[in-house]
Amino acid sequence: MSEIVLYNTRTRKKEVFVPIEPGKVGMYTCGPTVYGPSHIGNLRSQLVPDLLKRFLRSEGYEVTHVVNITDVGHLVSDADEGEDKMELAAQKTGQTAEEIAEKYTKLWQEDRARLNCQPLEQNPKATDHIPEQIELAKALEEKGFLYRLDDGIYFDITRFSRYADLARLDLEGQGAVHRIAEVEGKRHPADFGIWKFAPEGVKRLQEWDSPWGRGFPGWHLECSAMSSKYLGLHFDIHTGGIDLATVHHTNELAQSECGFDVNPWVNYWVHNEFLDFGGEKMSKSKGNVKSLDDLVERGYDPLAFRYFILQAHYRQQQAFNAEAMDAAATGYRRLVKAVVAVRDVVGEGDAEVQAPYREKFRAALADDLNAPKAMAVVWDVARSDSLADLDRRDLLLAFDEVLGLDLANAKLEEETAESDPRIDALLAERDEARKNKDFATADRIRDELAAEGITIIDSPEGSRWSRK
Ligand code: AMP
Ligand code: ZN
Repeated sequence: MSEIVLYNTRTRKKEVFVPIEPGKVGMYTCGPTVYGPSHIGNLRSQLVPDLLKRFLRSEGYEVTHVVNITDVGHLVSDADEGEDKMELAAQKTGQTAEEIAEKYTKLWQEDRARLNCQPLEQNPKATDHIPEQIELAKALEEKGFLYRLDDGIYFDITRFSRYADLARLDLEGQGAVHRIAEVEGKRHPADFGIWKFAPEGVKRLQEWDSPWGRGFPGWHLECSAMSSKYLGLHFDIHTGGIDLATVHHTNELAQSECGFDVNPWVNYWVHNEFLDFGGEKMSKSKGNVKSLDDLVERGYDPLAFRYFILQAHYRQQQAFNAEAMDAAATGYRRLVKAVVAVRDVVGEGDAEVQAPYREKFRAALADDLNAPKAMAVVWDVARSDSLADLDRRDLLLAFDEVLGLDLANAKLEEETAESDPRIDALLAERDEARKNKDFATADRIRDELAAEGITIIDSPEGSRWSRK
């Protein structure tokens, strides 16, 4: 195994990756709060660790990847106030919290599968781990880190000298202000809820007995309790979207290092940047869609979205818009075409010829997971005049083990495209409407065809359609 370098948020440096146990990696990723559908930004925060996991596996590591399901305790505001997102969704829909959680957990799992994310070794739910969370809270209480207020039990951050380290927080100055809407009585604005009591006179859907009274765990507690259960008290990699570093991960770290008496709890903190929607309000007619389903409805292959994500380094914000997505869809289609052309050739490639390409591809990913650079190598291979088909085949399929674009099975859209005079005419009408920015008409035609089970595939070269 040669060297792999990862940027560690905690040290603000690129560091050589050394696993705790040789040949093995324990990795934890914060998962969805299942009160509603995931958007494609959330999915970037799943695709990045999946790429890392695939790369580590290709390097010979045995990876155990745990992603949690938050189905209780995530309040509307990070300031430990406001309602629980799950309870709120239940009030709005008349369904139980369990029904809502089940529905959106399933959708999220399906999204991951459509994006060809590898199966998780563990996908634990917070509500299945209440005793583990209470255990950790008890350990924290015994060590004197907790205090009681009317509405819950809180963690006293001033008792933990490394509290500000992960996110370089300025606890005395402006940095503390992000939690101004405080709970009354908090000793420090950044103190956070470990166990919250059910409000008086209110029967919550989700509440449990605890040594402190009936209530529910604070959001952060679950990740500490479940990661330690499945990965041990000290593990290798923790990932998540960059927004989580300042509050959620800072609090996870505080609870874990104090409760488990470890330092560090996690060796490498890997945070991905956001998918950026340009501050625009999303609306279907503007074409700035947000769920994977929306993309599929618009004719994009989910793997074209995976291809899209691979075009940016994970620590760069990535702008999502219709043009960029169209360009990615075209790129993905061209790559599938290049692979289909060589996929079925028979015979053995030349390992010596392939070696420099493999090394370049590997080196790109080993340097803090530089996916765009790795994709450049992919295109060098796909476009090369000098490589034999056999070598092109071997290389592209080997690279795809890491990229996860399913190039071994992907079909050319021409194979699935159909023709029917009535539908072709509607499509032409819709193309015309789009050209005239008459999105209402364009959307109406798309919806009509969707009702017949027909998907429209838009691309810079025009639109095509296929039956689902
Ligand atoms: P949530 O379901 O809101 O708790 O978020 C789940 C994950 O999605 C977290 O890791 C967030 O950091 C991440 N996330 C939220 N919005 C975006 C975005 N626009 N781009 C990338 N990741 C995001
Ligand atoms: Zn978490």
